[in-house]
Amino acid sequence: MITILTKIERIAFAPIADFISLSVQIFIVLKNTDNEIFNSVGKVLGTKPENVVIVPHENPDGDAIGSAIGLGEILRNYGHEVIIISPNAYPEFLNWFSSEIEVVIYERKKKQAKKLLENAGVLICVDFNEPKRAAKMEKLLNGFSGPKIMVDHHPDPSDCADYLISEPGYSSTAELIFDVVKKIGFEKHLNRKAAEALYTGIMTDTGSFSHNISNPNTFRVIAELIELKIDPEKIQSNIYHNFSADRMRLLGHCLNNKMEIFPEHRAAMISISQKELEEYDFKPGDTEGFVNYPLSVNNIVFSALFTEKKDVIKASFRSKGDFPANEFSQKHFSGGGHLNAAGGESKLTLDETIDKFRQLLSDYKHLLLKTTI
Ligand code: 5GP
Ligand code: MN
Repeated sequence: MITILTKIERIAFAPIADFISLSVQIFIVLKNTDNEIFNSVGKVLGTKPENVVIVPHENPDGDAIGSAIGLGEILRNYGHEVIIISPNAYPEFLNWFSSEIEVVIYERKKKQAKKLLENAGVLICVDFNEPKRAAKMEKLLNGFSGPKIMVDHHPDPSDCADYLISEPGYSSTAELIFDVVKKIGFEKHLNRKAAEALYTGIMTDTGSFSHNISNPNTFRVIAELIELKIDPEKIQSNIYHNFSADRMRLLGHCLNNKMEIFPEHRAAMISISQKELEEYDFKPGDTEGFVNYPLSVNNIVFSALFTEKKDVIKASFRSKGDFPANEFSQKHFSGGGHLNAAGGESKLTLDETIDKFRQLLSDYKHLLLKTTI
């Protein structure tokens, strides 16, 4: 006989352990930040309308732009004047949001951006943990005289904001912003335009819900965003089915001709020269996600992508299990990030960088071999 239990009965029959894990799950939401900070942030944002500037990190990704637009929409609905200033251009596949908030590109409009910051009453930094991540805007951010709020999910933030909301347990800054907005009583200003941007941030930072998805809070937030009548299939398509043919061919070239697998180190590498980027008519964002592909190869736990830029080699690292991509990047490529997703740079030539990486793999062989996934 099949017995259907009512909700109350199910709770009555649930083992004690379930209750414990449920309370732990509730506890881990916003666990790093004191209530005092939320009260203060609520006061800063909840008084008179202000000019608010929101800044994402350099080379903004879906989470950085989605968080900036999502939060911007909410603050605008409250009554603030909101402008986003991005240190540099963001990829075309992020250029479809229904939000009308202006995104000023600092690299292109330095004077205007400086003026906007001078006239701003509040500065909010999203999806980065130190001013250096805003690249050429670093000094401007440090010099801002009004209240500075930082909302981020990267570990080890620097002490650079008046109000720091740092929650490395979160999948994405966008998920964190949703909880912060609720906590400071701004939920009623969360509209569809904000929801679609925050959804995009969570979707992209979890690789379409494939990693960093162990916390049920992520899916609770997603459920609430979908209730605001966003179109998840359309968002998926806007982000992942919106590439140029050149970008697809560049990916094919990288996987076919440029991917090196080091089975003895459980590692892989792709390197791309400027010449190759030009051949495939590279546009910002085209190489986004390339670094993930080698991790689909059986038994590979660490993947690196080196891309030759004008005066620097951009490095991206991804790992599985407990291999610390962020420590690796911080130590050897002046970078940082999350345990399994990090970035950095190299001032050597591309060939020298590749040699350096190969050498490092030998140094890390022991750690790579004992990585559990
Ligand atoms: P990506 O490889 O996609 O550029 O970056 C992966 C992760 O590492 C992201 O969370 C990004 O914010 C972080 N990251 C990328 N480049 C740097 C860097 O130069 N320094 C630090 N600290 N983090 C980085
Ligand atoms: Mn992020």
